[in-house]
Amino acid sequence: MHPDIIQALARKHPLLNFEIPRGLYCGLGWMGLVDELMGDLGDIYTHPSICIRSIRGDSGALVVLATWNTSDPYLRAVPDMLAAIARRSSLTCQICGGQASTATPGLCSCCRLVSG
Ligand SMILES: [Zn+2]
Repeated sequence: MHPDIIQALARKHPLLNFEIPRGLYCGLGWMGLVDELMGDLGDIYTHPSICIRSIRGDSGALVVLATWNTSDPYLRAVPDMLAAIARRSSLTCQICGGQASTATPGLCSCCRLVSG
């Protein structure tokens, strides 16, 4: 993977405290989304009741596995945030960050050709 980028993200976002890079595996095109999501989660993060288990691409979408204290009112929005990032990632090319083709979630038409 991209160890420098992943380590930079992990330094910026304390939530990314899993054993890197094993827990984070997705294309460079999605790193901006990961950065944004971690920033948003960090804003509502008031005490250690959320744990990001892994972040990876699956079937053209960015899937974030996390556990959190569901009785914590600050974390009520987490499921919606994770669903929104999955939706947005399917519209974003995971390789180049451009707009994904509707026929190939998570890939633009150029990168789809390159990745076969
Ligand atoms: Zn692309």
